[in-house]
Amino acid sequence: MNDFIPVNEPLFEGNEKQYLIECIETGWVSSEGPFVKQFEEKFARSVGRKFGVAVSNGTAALDAAVEALGIGPGDEVIVPTFTIISCVNQIVRSGATPVLVDSEADTWNMDVQQLEQKITARTKAILVVHIYGLPVDMNPVLELAERHNLKIIEDAAEMHGQTYAGEQCGSFGDISTFSFYSNKHITTGEGGMIVTDDEQLADQCRSLRNLCFQPEKRFVHERLGWNLRMTNLQAALGLAQLEKMDEIIAKKRRMGASYTQLLKETGGLQLPLQNTAYAENIYWVYGLVLTDEVDFDAEEAMKRLAAAGIGTRPFFCPMHEQPVLRRMGLCDDSDYPVSERLYRRGFYIPSGLRLSGEQMERVADAVQKMISS
Ligand SMILES: *Cc1c(COP(=O)(O)O)cnc(C)c1O
Repeated sequence: MNDFIPVNEPLFEGNEKQYLIECIETGWVSSEGPFVKQFEEKFARSVGRKFGVAVSNGTAALDAAVEALGIGPGDEVIVPTFTIISCVNQIVRSGATPVLVDSEADTWNMDVQQLEQKITARTKAILVVHIYGLPVDMNPVLELAERHNLKIIEDAAEMHGQTYAGEQCGSFGDISTFSFYSNKHITTGEGGMIVTDDEQLADQCRSLRNLCFQPEKRFVHERLGWNLRMTNLQAALGLAQLEKMDEIIAKKRRMGASYTQLLKETGGLQLPLQNTAYAENIYWVYGLVLTDEVDFDAEEAMKRLAAAGIGTRPFFCPMHEQPVLRRMGLCDDSDYPVSERLYRRGFYIPSGLRLSGEQMERVADAVQKMISS
């Protein structure tokens, strides 16, 4: 049998090795090393923000963002239900309540038409999550936030290099966050970044990242923080990856277009949109949704593909179906039919930067056989 094709393999074709060697030769391996600041500055500039705060992962970036905005007991934060648990962790831990919104069937992003009806006197913020490669329709969100005086947290973990109506994703939130996990377009292995134009928020995030040590009385604490620091080794990778950003995004778009070309005649599949009115897909992952004619679900499809040597991952399980959140009584009985369907019918196929054209053809072949068998 052919070799197994994993769902993602990262690619390091730039200065990664050189920068890592520099870390080792100079002894700068901790978060105090010089690459961390350089990466923060260059990354923030790349999304047009004033401040960047590098952290240990994308979840940590969200945790710090929620805490820095002072979200706590009694507050409500509007969040898409179709997302990763990282988005609600700190909202819940802080004593605030996540208020969930269903997705659009075509972009898989939060349905912004449903936002206004979710706003109450307790709503403090909207947490926007751009899903799988296409940005959320931001203009209605910005307008609502302005009108109701709400903060915006923008989870741009899957959106490196993407724009909405010509403006960088990561530039829309009071605070915006990124992840550099190894399956993201830019990776540091594990890593994350908070970006903002608000100096006070940036300072708070820096403090929260570093246990809220105080400059004068180091071991005296006025607030509880975390250790969320990024190491110089991670920042070395990030800096080298950032230099390749344009190439990486162009390659991802070519890969997405190839998959669409290979799969568009295959019945039974909803493919990712190549474009919306305001963006061109960057295909963080290439997702497939089984249409209603197919008489099995994503779990069965993934099983069949695994047997054919093809790695896959399921789509997100919506937040309102999370046992941990249900047990806490945090989910109302609203229906979220689109997200429920995406979870049961959706999965993604190998999409990493190391994937060859030949491997993509093998994947597409296996998908076609899986559907018709
Ligand atoms: C990957 C991801 C995260 C979490 O990032 P980690 O670095 O894995 O903690 C958060 N939000 C979204 C939308 C993601 O895709």
